[in-house]
Formats: sequence, C-alpha cells, structure tokens
Amino acid sequence: MDCLFCKIINKEAPVDIVYDDDKFLAFNDINPKAPIHILIVPKKHISSVDHLEIGDKELMGELILIAQKIAREKKLKGYKLIINVGREGGQIIDHLHLHLLAGKPK
Ligand code: 5GP
Ligand code: ZN
Repeated sequence: MDCLFCKIINKEAPVDIVYDDDKFLAFNDINPKAPIHILIVPKKHISSVDHLEIGDKELMGELILIAQKIAREKKLKGYKLIINVGREGGQIIDHLHLHLLAGKPK
C-alpha cells in the first residue's frame, strides 16, 4: 500500500517524532499552520473517519487521550484538535490523523 503515513510509521520516511507507542505515532507537521502543529496517527491504517468501524471506537477514544497527554506534557493552556475528512473536508493524506494545533496561527 502506498501510504505516506504508513511509511513514516514503518520508519521508511523521515519524521520528527513527538510520541511513540504500540498503537500511535505523533510527529511534527512538515508544514506547520501554528507554532505547535502535531499530527497524531493510529498505526493501524484507517483511511479516514468515514472508514471507521464500530470496533475502532476504543482506538478513537485513545487518540484523543494521546492528544491530551501531549498537550499536558507541553503545558499547553489551550489547543485545537482537528480531523479533516475526505477531499472536500480538506483531507490530503488518506491515513486517519488528528491535528493538534496550539499558539497563534501563522
Ligand atoms: P490533512 O490535510 O490530510 O488533514 O493533513 C495532512 C497534513 O500532513 C498536512 O498538514 C501536511 O502539512 C502534513 N504532511 C504532508 N506530508 C508530510 C510529511 O512528509 N511529513 C510530515 N511530517 N507531515 C506531512
Ligand atoms: Zn496508512
């Protein structure tokens, strides 16, 4: 499968890692839209929110908690969590990911 984020997860593409565990990888966005712009990605390939199945609900809860953990570690006072879905929703990479944004947008 030709998926950029799967390549990043498999360490086949360069990446600036923020968080890594058995289920998730978080890394700095290559083209940050805010002073802090981190992508949090489940290691399981799911194309988008539109492709989620009922069995993914725990994983999606964990995804939000990873964002909270990173935000706490970075002592963020506030942040935005964004998931783009589909081309018309602004999704460019077809591997589900959560954007964690903080600080004044550039
Ligand atoms: P989407 O628009 O799909 O929600 O977000 C994709 C994000 O991936 C964009 O913010 C884009 O800057 C980022 N991105 C694209 N290619 C790479 C890459 O090779 N490395 C990293 N770290 N981020 C990338
Ligand atoms: Zn993938």
